[in-house]
Amino acid sequence: MKHMRKILSLLLAVTVIFSLTGCIQNLKLGSNAVKNIDKKEPAAVSAASGTAAVESVLSPAESEVLSESSAEPAAVSQPAAEEVTSEVIAFDPSWEYAANSKINSGTATLYHAKPTGSRGIVVCVNAGHGTKGGSDVKTLCHPDGSPKVTGGTTESGATEAMAVSSGMTFLDGTPEAVVTLKLALVLKDKLLDAGFDVLMIRETDDVQLDNIARTVMANNMADCHIALHYDSTDFDKGVFFFSVPSADVYRSMEPVASHWQEHNALGEALVSSLELAGFKLFEGGAMEMDLTQTSYSTVPSVDIEVGDAASKYTDDILNSTADGLVLGVDSFFKANPKS
Ligand SMILES: [Zn+2]
Repeated sequence: MKHMRKILSLLLAVTVIFSLTGCIQNLKLGSNAVKNIDKKEPAAVSAASGTAAVESVLSPAESEVLSESSAEPAAVSQPAAEEVTSEVIAFDPSWEYAANSKINSGTATLYHAKPTGSRGIVVCVNAGHGTKGGSDVKTLCHPDGSPKVTGGTTESGATEAMAVSSGMTFLDGTPEAVVTLKLALVLKDKLLDAGFDVLMIRETDDVQLDNIARTVMANNMADCHIALHYDSTDFDKGVFFFSVPSADVYRSMEPVASHWQEHNALGEALVSSLELAGFKLFEGGAMEMDLTQTSYSTVPSVDIEVGDAASKYTDDILNSTADGLVLGVDSFFKANPKS
């Protein structure tokens, strides 16, 4: 009997051990199953919401491209690569004409369009004015120190001009620099949406970059340079750009001699597109002016006056202005492809 009891209790112990092991194995399996669920589900959720977030900022056509590629196995990581990226650009004193700049401690920002649909073209958007202390400093109007051939903010014959003037004031008391900045920020987003990279010279009230520094940056980092301004007259005159003066002495001076035709072509493209967008042009849309900007530009470069002190600048108007400018940039580069 004693033996039988021993055998029975041994059997019992073995059974208990077996069933315990089974439980543990089940538990292990169970925890693996939980782990797998942990791994899969949140990833699936975040991928889905990530795609939704990206899609919400894309046009229907772009969303279609994205959802088509989402069917591919690598689609989960794709939305991250489809973001606009940016880098800070500092002034490089070794750039040509850099030595003529006197205010250049500020930085610009280069925004790269989403890789899908990128045009590989950099547009410099220069929100006119907005450099504290800029009107107290003088810089050379021309790289070679020769005198200005037209009047303007600085009179004809002068060799030096304000490094950056403070700009005009709208009839409602708003400084020009506030409105050029608003327009620049709208234009930046529209250019990026259209596949252009954008070099933003100024994105806040103040940037310590004078007109020469802004121009030299655009020369080296961009494929064209658009400075946004409103004119100081107050009769809502319409849109125009400052074209390169026809004076022989000016058009034979470098870098104007090699680039004045492309400056004028860019200006014509911008005002033509603004006219198509419903804006009235002032006297055909061009006025000859000897500007520091065009005197130092080695890429297609224009100072465009999109209105004056009496112009309205509601969100709707700024949107339409930016739409017209994007069309103008597009038509310019279609007619003059980047080599
Ligand atoms: Zn201005």
